[in-house]
Parts: sequence; structure tokens; C-alpha cells
Amino acid sequence: MTRYLATAILAAAFLFTPAAHAASSPIEVMLLDGESGGPYHAWQVTTPILKKELEATGLFAVTVVTAPPSGADFSSFKPDFSHYKVVVSNYDAPDWPANLRTQFEDYMRNGGGLVIVHAADNAFPNWPEFNEMAGIGGWRKRTESAGPSWYYKDGKIVPDTSPGPAGSHGARLPFLVTTRVTDHPITKGLPAAWMHAPDELYATLKGPGKNMTVLATAHSDPANHGTDKDEPTLLVLQFGKGRVFHTTMGHDPAALSCVGFITTLQRGTEWAATGKVTQKVPVTFPTAETVSYRVDIFEMDPALKNGPAAKVPPAPTARPIQTQQK
Ligand code: ZN
Repeated sequence: MTRYLATAILAAAFLFTPAAHAASSPIEVMLLDGESGGPYHAWQVTTPILKKELEATGLFAVTVVTAPPSGADFSSFKPDFSHYKVVVSNYDAPDWPANLRTQFEDYMRNGGGLVIVHAADNAFPNWPEFNEMAGIGGWRKRTESAGPSWYYKDGKIVPDTSPGPAGSHGARLPFLVTTRVTDHPITKGLPAAWMHAPDELYATLKGPGKNMTVLATAHSDPANHGTDKDEPTLLVLQFGKGRVFHTTMGHDPAALSCVGFITTLQRGTEWAATGKVTQKVPVTFPTAETVSYRVDIFEMDPALKNGPAAKVPPAPTARPIQTQQK
């Protein structure tokens, strides 16, 4: 009896150990924001969502660091990168002062972590080291000079050196994400294919693609302004000793509410910080036929405060009734 009780208590203690450990030594995360390419990327709305999703794991202590707007005085902006195991970028600015760029390059070369979410891969078109960290990027006047676009063909990622602007997407529709590497810590245990909630399917992103492993792709549908190619959606790469996780998904609250997005963000952030993933895949993970999204996240879109605005049809124009005269 006594031995049985002792075993039970030991088992209970063991069960609670991981949570207690996580609470006592959280992974320090810098969530970087402060600018986007336009109001369609509402970082003031999406940063609290990313913060909530990361903190829900119990693994991370998230500090939001907001950079000054482009062209403003950066002299008092001195983020202490070395304090953080990983920088999650929800930030799309055209340029940074040279000393800040150097500090961030050093942080990454020395083993830092970087997570690039969606339009954060639009940032810094003329900063070669950042483009190497991202692997691929789009817009902000990038062209084939940024590197080829990359797509999945016959079991591997291949470059396409065709000239033209970098970055395109169709209307925001649900799309199927196909896992291409199943033994990476981020994708281990995920379904072979799963439906992502309505989002922009990024295509024709261009970049050096150096040391890049594409973990998942999505087919860009020509019926929705697509390339008819399997475009990278989740990728990882090495920069010096640093680890980068890049998700091209996550345009707005609807996209960010997808359980597939959330799970890969949480796992990708842990991997970029530590090189390991300790999180399980939730039972609510989407399937190949079914979208799965978190209502509490979806409702963080302020546009939904009073429900979507109703479109009032125009009043019918009064017309005299025509009667046939003979
Ligand atoms: Zn977008």
C-alpha cells in the first residue's frame, strides 16, 4: 500500500515536472515589429496574436520590441539581441542603419534564432545578409537580381531563373499544405497534407536559397492567379551558427487563427531557439479535407467587433411601368 502510494506520488510529480520546468526557465523571445509595407499588414493587430500564440505553449517569455519608423532617429533604438534565444519578425521595413544590421548579423552568426512570418520576408531588399537569412523574399522592387525563385519538382527544390518581379499571390482562399520533409523536428508527426485557413499563397519569392531546406509547399493554383507550381510555405536554414524558420503564411487574423499555422509557428520558434521541438501536435490539427481554426484568435480582428459590415444593396430605381400600347 505504502509503496503503491509512493509510486503514485512519484508519477504525479513526474507529470507536472515539464510545466514547472518551463515556467522556471522560459525561452526569451523578441517579437519585433514597428513597420509594414501598407495598412493591409496591420502589425498592431497581428503582433498581439503572435504573442498570445507563443505564450500559450508555456515555453516562451515574449517581449515585444517596436522599432522606430523608417527614416526616423534610430540612435536610441538599441535592442539587446544577445538577451534573446530567438527573434520573431513581424517587421517589414525597407532599411536599417549599418550598425544595427551588423549587430543583428553578429547575433545570428553566433547562434541566434530568427523566425520570419509572412511579409517579414518583404523587408530589407538591399541587405544581402538578411536575404540570405530569409532564403527567399518578395516585393519592395525585388527582381531576379535577388536570386532565382524556388519550387518543388520531382522530389526536390529547384531554382527558376526567369526574369521578373519577386512575389505574387492570389485571392485569400484556403489551400492545401504538403509536408515535404517528415523527419525534421518542426514537421515530425504532422499530416502529409493539411488545409490552411484562407490566406495569401505566396509565390515567385526570389532569393539566394543558400543552406535552405523547404519543409512544406503549397500548389499555386493558376485559377487563382497562381504559378501552377509547388511553392515553399515552410522552410528552415542555417546562417552561421544561427537557425532560421520562415513561414510564408500568416497575412491577417483569419490566417493566423489556423491551428496549422499556430502549431508550426510554435514549433518553428522553439526549434529556431533551441534546435529541438518538445511540443506535441494538437488533436485539432487540420486534415487534408478540413480547415481548423481558433475562434479566440479569429475574434482578435477588430474588424469583427460588431460583425462584418453589411453591404446594403442600393435602393431600386423608380421607373414608370411601361405598358404596351397598340
Ligand atoms: Zn499579406
